[in-house]
Amino acid sequence: MFWLAPRVLLAVLVVVGGTLACGQLVGLVGWPLWGAASGAGVSVALACLLDSWRGAQLLRWLSGLQDTDAPHLRAFWGELTTRVERAIRRRERETEREREQLRQFLEGIEASPNGVLMLDAGEQIEWCNQMAAEHLGLDAERDLRQRITNLVRSPAFVAHLHARNHEQPVHIPAPDGRGLIAIVVRPYGDGQRLLLTQDVTARERADKMRRDFVANVSHEIRTPLTVLAGFVETMSSLPLTEVERQRVLGLMAQQTKRMQSLVGDLLALARLEDSPRPPADQWHPLARIGASVESEARGLSAGRHQFSFDWGDWQLAGSEAELQSGIGNLVNNAIRYTPEGGRISVTAGTRTDGALEVRVQDSGPGIAPEHLPRLAERFYRVDGSRSRETGGTGLGLSIVKHVAQRHGGELRITSELGRGSCFTLVIPASRVQAKTVQQPAEPVAS
Ligand code: ADP
Repeated sequence: MFWLAPRVLLAVLVVVGGTLACGQLVGLVGWPLWGAASGAGVSVALACLLDSWRGAQLLRWLSGLQDTDAPHLRAFWGELTTRVERAIRRRERETEREREQLRQFLEGIEASPNGVLMLDAGEQIEWCNQMAAEHLGLDAERDLRQRITNLVRSPAFVAHLHARNHEQPVHIPAPDGRGLIAIVVRPYGDGQRLLLTQDVTARERADKMRRDFVANVSHEIRTPLTVLAGFVETMSSLPLTEVERQRVLGLMAQQTKRMQSLVGDLLALARLEDSPRPPADQWHPLARIGASVESEARGLSAGRHQFSFDWGDWQLAGSEAELQSGIGNLVNNAIRYTPEGGRISVTAGTRTDGALEVRVQDSGPGIAPEHLPRLAERFYRVDGSRSRETGGTGLGLSIVKHVAQRHGGELRITSELGRGSCFTLVIPASRVQAKTVQQPAEPVAS
């Protein structure tokens, strides 16, 4: 209020000074009262004019954008201008801060892997992030203010949007027709709705794989169990001769073995999926792995096949047990699917990029090309009865593929119907050493 006293003082001085001056002046001609009155009037008018001029300057600045400095005024108007300008600048700073917060918030939503879309009470798009636009096949800018049901026409979505209960998400096909989008609708405000979208293609695929897997495992276990139950009943209800009893026991042992193999392979797969990747600094001679694969193979074949093995002189880094199981499964398959008298050869050699290929080639029946891409899927079989007859579980190649991938490699399959197949386990160069590394000699006890 420091402007008030000078302003009152100035007003008093102007009026008194004007009154006296005019009173004196007009008093000379004999009308001192008229002089005093007109002096006071002129002074007040001048003071009003000055005030109006200053006020007009402030008003002109206020009615603009206030992007220049406020006018420099004195006393009361100066104080008023300073306060108004300060309030405006403070509001501008707050607005700027809020705008920045909003920008960061929207940037955060943009970075989200989920789509966010806001609808007004008339179902028109108020705002959406890029992800929601992709999920729903929209243009995030062009389609603003458009009615969503004109753009997303899936009947399931339209019905869900108009339903009262939005507890469950609705699923609609992705715009490219190759995936599945889940949409959650949440009402808010005055009839507005928030739509959250998510690409659930991979999750749905994984769920389906899990369901199929459980169904397959149940089926694989139920079959031998049913057979076993039948045999148990036969044995307990029928008087069998010793020969018949031995035959039934043999068949029961076969089914039990089948279940054991299945459970063994399932456990092996579970271990491969859950355990950390094999170490890259533990080296194992391929010849040692090969020797044990070879002895198992000869036992399984029992002289029905011609073998040739060439393991070379390599060292592999990783898990010896896994590598042995991977290569063993390939050789085991070759023996089971190649008819008697067929040839099976196993060779190991490096490619130009240093990766090692362990090739298992057979002269068996071969596989039609349409089966090749699915061969390493769990329980995928070209000929189910042949697989089961020979003790197959349908999981062997799946195990090999996991072993290869865990070592950074891959499983390659080439085959020709009637001419045989070649299964190649590829181990990357980083896990291959060419020569047998000399182990440090054991210190000699003195
Ligand atoms: P399985 O236990 O049935 O052999 P795998 O996963 O090892 O299961 O193999 C999947 C399918 O691939 C087999 O059922 C068989 O049809 C085919 N297969 C695998 N190896 C060979 C091979 N060497 N020759 C012909 N077919 C093969």
